[in-house]
Amino acid sequence: MKVTFLGTGTSQGIPIIGSTHPVCLSTNPKDKRLRVSVLIEWNNYAYVIDCGPDFRQQMLRAKCSKIDGIVFTHEHADHTAGLDDIRPFFFRQGDFPIYAHKRVLRALAKRFDYIFTNEPKYPGVPNIVENEIENKPFTLGNLSIIPIDGLHHKLQVFGFRFGDFAYLTDMKTVPDKEIKKLKGVKVLVVNALRETPHLSHFNLDEAIDFINKVKPEKTYLTHISHMLGFHDEVQQKLPENVFLAYDNLQITL
Ligand SMILES: [Zn+2]
Repeated sequence: MKVTFLGTGTSQGIPIIGSTHPVCLSTNPKDKRLRVSVLIEWNNYAYVIDCGPDFRQQMLRAKCSKIDGIVFTHEHADHTAGLDDIRPFFFRQGDFPIYAHKRVLRALAKRFDYIFTNEPKYPGVPNIVENEIENKPFTLGNLSIIPIDGLHHKLQVFGFRFGDFAYLTDMKTVPDKEIKKLKGVKVLVVNALRETPHLSHFNLDEAIDFINKVKPEKTYLTHISHMLGFHDEVQQKLPENVFLAYDNLQITL
């Protein structure tokens, strides 16, 4: 399995438009973060988790010409706003599968009403195939995917376990029974926004507490704010086998 970090930044991305914060002005490519998303490839399958406003740029940057579907964690715009840009995949591949909680499918249908309409569509509008995710395993390609149910402040959010790999973002609360589903995972990705506490995201300490409960071999932190600091400085302070993810990072399992 190959995982490509398409984006590792929080909702505004880094740099933030107009910001003069030193991290936003950094020239280190590892400090430039598009909105969070990952591409997961195994055998001949390729799935993307979330498609935020940077989706088009991310697909071009990763030279991705075929994906089998998009899986959504939740409906916030930094995770969904790029849905219209599935059009090239739809034109080449046909009706395009998406996977999401029923509530998220409803939210997408409101925002992208012209895609989800039952009326005749404007030419060029993509067709999607809606697949509802409940908190039970579902199949992508030849793999059984295990949803991990958590809370983003009060909003339900899904993380996902793909075999030995798990991806959780925008988590603030994860019940113990859900953490049990992550037992034995080799590579964990989890959100760590910044050092100071936040209403709806793990800060760095909360992410490290969570990692200590899951005990994966390796962890990569994502959904990072400029307030966390420079990549190279933060990385030096992290525990062993915990790494800051950065855009374009690829890992193989
Ligand atoms: Zn987010």
